Amino acid sequence: MLSVCHLYPDLLNLYGDRGNVIAFLQRCRWRDIPVQLIELNAGESIDFNRVDFLFLGGGSDREQNLMAADLEKHKESLREAIEDGLVVLSICGGYQLLGQYYRTPRGEEIPGLGILDHYTVAGEKRLIGNVAIEMNLDGQSIKATGFENHGGQTYLGSVEPLGKVLAGYGNNGKDGTEGARYKNVFCSYLHGPLLPKNHQFTDYLIKLALQRRGIDKQLTPLDDSFEKSANNTMLNRLLK
Ligand code: GLN
Repeated sequence: MLSVCHLYPDLLNLYGDRGNVIAFLQRCRWRDIPVQLIELNAGESIDFNRVDFLFLGGGSDREQNLMAADLEKHKESLREAIEDGLVVLSICGGYQLLGQYYRTPRGEEIPGLGILDHYTVAGEKRLIGNVAIEMNLDGQSIKATGFENHGGQTYLGSVEPLGKVLAGYGNNGKDGTEGARYKNVFCSYLHGPLLPKNHQFTDYLIKLALQRRGIDKQLTPLDDSFEKSANNTMLNRLLK
């Protein structure tokens, strides 16, 4: 049984980021892979070593402020699980808070967990629009598409980018990077939500979660025609 944890589903759910959890769960269920969902709200606790896939979505500066203190309580358990290979997908506001800090347009510094080596500072303008990136997932090149809307500009330290920007802004609109990857933690600014129309990425995350539990299985192929069509439509629009 794979355990999926959605952290702060009520606070960090901008642009329907919950769709990433739905896509992960459904692509497991279509393959008869037993999976359960745990929604963890502020004030609740969990041992992240019991979790196989953790999702953190996006949120406005206000929501990020509201949950930063609660997130801090999970720091050591989360750090330990991440170092042990916990698979994490974190989008935008959630991404920012896994790093050192997010400095808002008002100059207030929202502390992050400091588990990933990056920091975020609000820029002059919001980075908004459709975005296409190229990821290399253990030799598999995947072009992903999504939508970004963030004031924060993220700068990477010793972590790798998730991908390179093909169209749009990405981490900061300057260095051509998008997102971050550290061990099995994948961070991105791509809302959309990201996973439903980037099915190869979803399957990659499912395989990583299974492998961490010692299950090395080929995933049953699915009819991905709808997902491919959605992804190609955006790639053709953005890269023509
Ligand atoms: N509030 C953060 C920013 O504006 C994150 C926004 C988001 O999650 N879309 O950069």
